[in-house]
Amino acid sequence: MRRIEGAQGEGGGQILRSSITLSLLTGTPFQITSIRAGRKKPGLMRQHLTAVKAAVEISGATVEGAEMGSQSLTFHPGEVAGGEYHFAVGTAGSATLVLQTILPTLLIAKNPSKIVLEGGTHNPYAPPYPFLEKAFLPLLRKMGAGIEIRLERAGFYPAGGGKFVIEVDPVKKLKRLDILERGTILRRQARAIVSALPGHIADRELAVIGKKLGWEADCLQKEVLRKPRGPGNILSLEVESEYVTEVFTGFGEVKKSAEMVAEYALRQAKKYLSSNAAVGRFLADQLIIPMAMAGGGEFSTLPLSRHTETNIEITKTFLDIDVTIEPSEKYDHIIRIDA
Ligand code: ATP
Repeated sequence: MRRIEGAQGEGGGQILRSSITLSLLTGTPFQITSIRAGRKKPGLMRQHLTAVKAAVEISGATVEGAEMGSQSLTFHPGEVAGGEYHFAVGTAGSATLVLQTILPTLLIAKNPSKIVLEGGTHNPYAPPYPFLEKAFLPLLRKMGAGIEIRLERAGFYPAGGGKFVIEVDPVKKLKRLDILERGTILRRQARAIVSALPGHIADRELAVIGKKLGWEADCLQKEVLRKPRGPGNILSLEVESEYVTEVFTGFGEVKKSAEMVAEYALRQAKKYLSSNAAVGRFLADQLIIPMAMAGGGEFSTLPLSRHTETNIEITKTFLDIDVTIEPSEKYDHIIRIDA
């Protein structure tokens, strides 16, 4: 039984989700205390609870403490089985984070899976759908897993109501991935999506990107959602290079101008583009577990976030891996994982 201190490092929901994922992968039970102690409203929220329940459903795990607001939990995993599953957060809580919890283990399950997920799909503080589709999943495909995904409905905070379907064709073991170089940039695309909001918001965001990044008009795409569930706006900047695609996101919010949303995404993209790093800060924390599963890998990245540092620590709690983090003149930072 591993004992996990939920207040360590970044102190958020990632510690719980990664512990569940690693527990399913290794068959090791764990007990976590002080769940999300670093957050204003500590304990399990709907999104985390849905992730716990999803893990129970795919593995027949037994769990104690799976209630709203609970700050401690004991989890005994069972054997993971691929199959058809449907998980709904029930609020605008992130459905992509529910997927993040169960996906790694389904990539190496005995049977294929088809999972329907409902909830928020374009949330701040979570992987937004365009990032999942364009940045994260293609890397898992490179590691050998078959993955198809399709968005049926976008769900923004606070209305939620998003839905996507993912199909997984598993492999015995993931292949290692080495992404020091990002290679030549092949394509740039800015996509501004508005849901139940005036279209000029998207136009203004794209105008900032056109002007400040010098991206041509055919790289700027506006999408006004039909049949919206509620108001929402997101700007994704996709940089597709030979070996990796990165997606930088700005999220619309009440009292935040379209220009501010664009500037936020722009700052992230500029930092990335002015370095030689292949992987941005969000992709970095999300690659740790898949690379550990593959028995190793390496990537170049920007300065590490606390999420990445914390995820490395949690992964080491369950798996016998060595992780080296080296500053690099050429690549900014290099993270190497050896099992
Ligand atoms: P908490 O429960 O602590 O309120 P949380 O459960 O929403 O937070 P975090 O611990 O903050 O989760 O983890 C968020 C996850 O979402 C991390 O894996 C991070 O990389 C990812 N993420 C956050 N923002 C983005 C973004 N803009 N693009 C891609 N991934 C993101």
